[in-house]
Amino acid sequence: MAKVRLDVLIGGFADEASLKQHGTARYRPNIVLIRTDDLVIIVDPGTVEKQSDIVDALKVRGVNVSDITHVIHTHHHLDHNRNSGMFADVPVVDAWAMWNGVDYDTNPKSLHELIRIQPTPGHTYDSLTIFVTTEEGGVAICGDVFWWKGDTQSDVYATDVDELVKSRALVLAQSDFVIPGHGPKFKTK
Ligand SMILES: [Zn+2]
Repeated sequence: MAKVRLDVLIGGFADEASLKQHGTARYRPNIVLIRTDDLVIIVDPGTVEKQSDIVDALKVRGVNVSDITHVIHTHHHLDHNRNSGMFADVPVVDAWAMWNGVDYDTNPKSLHELIRIQPTPGHTYDSLTIFVTTEEGGVAICGDVFWWKGDTQSDVYATDVDELVKSRALVLAQSDFVIPGHGPKFKTK
């Protein structure tokens, strides 16, 4: 039986209170590592204090930068994709396609039987969610469809609030746990 191992490599936060105090808000996304027998996928290698934090977090889990086989972007906001270039020559997946070098495959085959990628627009028009079947249940890595647990407010960055409401319902219905864009993993059921 195939198995998937899922780790939040670096935990996310969104510190907008800092805007008042220091003049700048601070954002870091959940950066997630998905491992199968033959895939090592990094999701949202975005903003960190320094790039070596990602290298170090991988090392702690016995993974080198060169071991990464795919990068997936939940959406195109810079705080989620700032460090994609660290993983130079591997295929990169977004809501549009899989890029492999200059090849742009709009109909990529599924990466793995236990990893499903589905468009969940609303926060941005190109948002996607990665549904991963793990031993503890279904986990949805949804980017900023939910910023954190209890994120049911209207999202000021949303490109389409109606779509966002639909996407949030879909993510909750199809998962046991959610890894949101910027807060700790939470249980849905
Ligand atoms: Zn975002």
